[in-house]
Amino acid sequence: MRDVTGTVTPPAPTTTLTAQDRCDRCGAQARVRVVLTSGDLLFCNHHAKAYEDKLKPAAVDWVDESASLDA
Ligand SMILES: [Zn+2]
Repeated sequence: MRDVTGTVTPPAPTTTLTAQDRCDRCGAQARVRVVLTSGDLLFCNHHAKAYEDKLKPAAVDWVDESASLDA
């Protein structure tokens, strides 16, 4: 019997964007995840700023990961 406690891989946090995540508007690498009650949207920096005023009041969560991705 394997010792699963020693090898368990924590699930990837759903808020972590990767290089495969793309802006829903232009297809650039996503930097911001916007969580809405209807679902998630991914935006690049440009479109995050473009939609911020409109979406932020309605967003459940606004996760700006541009800093970590630029590292
Ligand atoms: Zn974009």
